[in-house]
Amino acid sequence: MSRILTLNAGSSSLKFGLFDASVPEPPLVASGHVDSIGSPNAGITVKAADGAPLAAEGPGPVKDHADALDRVLSLVARLFPGAAVDAVGHRVVHGGPDHDAPVALTPAIAEDLDRFSPFAPLHQPHNLAGVRAAMARFPGAVQVACFDTAFHRRHPWENDTFALPRAYYDKGVRRYGFHGLSYEFIAGHLREAAPLLHSGRVVVAHLGNGASMCALLDGRSVGSTMGFSALDGLPMGTRCGQLDPGVLLYLMDQEGMSAAEITDLLYRKSGLLGLSGLSNDMRRLEAADTPEARQAISYFTFRIRRELGALAAVLGGLDAVVFTGGIGENSRLVRARVCDGMHWIGLDLDPDANAANAPEISAKLSRVRVLVVPTDEERVIARAAARHLEGRPYPTQRSLR
Ligand code: ADP
Repeated sequence: MSRILTLNAGSSSLKFGLFDASVPEPPLVASGHVDSIGSPNAGITVKAADGAPLAAEGPGPVKDHADALDRVLSLVARLFPGAAVDAVGHRVVHGGPDHDAPVALTPAIAEDLDRFSPFAPLHQPHNLAGVRAAMARFPGAVQVACFDTAFHRRHPWENDTFALPRAYYDKGVRRYGFHGLSYEFIAGHLREAAPLLHSGRVVVAHLGNGASMCALLDGRSVGSTMGFSALDGLPMGTRCGQLDPGVLLYLMDQEGMSAAEITDLLYRKSGLLGLSGLSNDMRRLEAADTPEARQAISYFTFRIRRELGALAAVLGGLDAVVFTGGIGENSRLVRARVCDGMHWIGLDLDPDANAANAPEISAKLSRVRVLVVPTDEERVIARAAARHLEGRPYPTQRSLR
């Protein structure tokens, strides 16, 4: 049987999905992840499409991404004997200025994507390590890169640039936006489930460990809270979100911090963790009864509300808000705090629906609808890989700039 493998390689993790490629909308067969790659205490878990556990290994050593992929594939071969992998879909965080659609990878294109590693140093090298490992393991399979930046590549120029001398824009210093696979899934969901909203003005809040918001007009991204890097916009689990660049100058000049130290501070020690001094995990913050944990949640929801107003202005109004990501899908508290007092924009929450985690949580008379939609980035990758297998890849739509 023909299969599609999806890979999502993080700095020390590898998430994967196995899909049945013989059906047009490929159904998930199994998924899993490898954690703590590079440590002696790595773990591997595989579960069936319905979430039932299928296999677990570890804690034990997993050397690197190639080792992780080998371990995953051995488990998959044992669990699903006779399954041939015809396509591998990769999440690649950065596609640079030109990639506005998934692309079939050749060794030359994969090498070229290394150019964007300095733009996303904590993600891109690991994504490409996964690509190289899969190319070596499946030389006959089509390898498809799906970029987190691609969905945003047709932003209007004002939303794509910084007010720096133009030479920097030409060198690629632009507002790219990320979480594009998640937003593409949500846009596709709206097209099917709520076509009127799909053709309207929607703000999607992807609130997970990483968090951003996206303005959708007619199903297309016209604005994002993230910019050049995955640091900008909302505060996140351990990332700072929007920061006055003057703070960086101060840290370098007055505190003598190096680029590596600042990177560590902004990516790993800030956000909810930095503010609370306790945890990056929203569940722990909600359960904690400390002023710092409460303030961390307040800052998080305040910034979401602020960006909601800004993105509604970009859209010229608002028809719907969609919550997704681990926090957006599960945290009643965060959703309630974001929507509180938003009547001025036409948004009224139904507290009971919100408490029940219902798919629609706006009040009946609310002009702005509020939806909760579980995202599925792996499915977006599998769809793109399936289209390449069928010989009908997504067209590349160069921006009109
Ligand atoms: P990632 O960006 O790593 O994919 P997720 O989308 O899985 O992150 O989201 C992780 C976040 O979701 C964590 O902060 C976690 O605490 C939060 N979360 C998950 N379930 C709940 C819940 N029931 N209530 C509040 N927060 C939750």
